[in-house]
Amino acid sequence: MERAFAWPDQNQGAVSLTYDDGLPVHYTLVDPLLRHHGLLASFYPMIQSDLCMHPDNWRRLAIAGHELGNHTVFHPCRQVHPDPYPWLEERYDLSSYTPANLHAELEVANLVLHLLDGRTDRTYGSTCGDMTIGRGTIEQSLDPVLADLFVAARGAVTNRIAQPARDFNLFNVGCISADWRSLEDLTSLVEQTRSTGGWAVFLIHGIGAGTHELYLDADVHERFTSWLAGQKTIWTAPVREIASYIKAHMPIAGIHFGQELRS
Ligand SMILES: [Zn+2]
Repeated sequence: MERAFAWPDQNQGAVSLTYDDGLPVHYTLVDPLLRHHGLLASFYPMIQSDLCMHPDNWRRLAIAGHELGNHTVFHPCRQVHPDPYPWLEERYDLSSYTPANLHAELEVANLVLHLLDGRTDRTYGSTCGDMTIGRGTIEQSLDPVLADLFVAARGAVTNRIAQPARDFNLFNVGCISADWRSLEDLTSLVEQTRSTGGWAVFLIHGIGAGTHELYLDADVHERFTSWLAGQKTIWTAPVREIASYIKAHMPIAGIHFGQELRS
């Protein structure tokens, strides 16, 4: 179903840059670069990360206006077969969690983030793009847990531009894995975002070799953010700001779930 929807201030599309896993490079390199270009982003550090060791550095990101999003405490993910994640301990296999387990873990993460930024409104950034919990006949969507705690959620890695005007779920906003991509690829995705009136949510981990197993080349990142800052009809903002706008401007008030929106 197509709905009337327009971005603010004559913008033709929206972009969110999101940086996962609480890496020092996010405050040593990414934040200064984004500030230089006047851009704000969403950072999704799990609590058990550099954030525990250097909380003041993460507080400074929030003071600068970036979003500190929730990426859980322990980074649970669904263990995959036949190539399991070697770093994922069995007790943090999301397919063994219950909704109550996850809800409690996310509440603790929200509390820690609140102590850093003083805010109660934030978004969730999915771990490993996983959006279900449990396994077999009890495998279920995270939507109800997320809707209870967050403004919205960056969800599955779809590698597609989200389209708020149709087939859209605020608690599973599809994202585009940006690690390894070329500058041409990234700019072309933003051009497509503009021409389709969509929202490109880029998922990034490290910046440059040695910062994370998954990373975007530092030079590509620098040139892309510089180019993005010059795009006058693209609204680049944290997920929280863009999701809040969509929520406030959806023509069908009070509807948050994809299932309902698809009907
Ligand atoms: Zn992660």
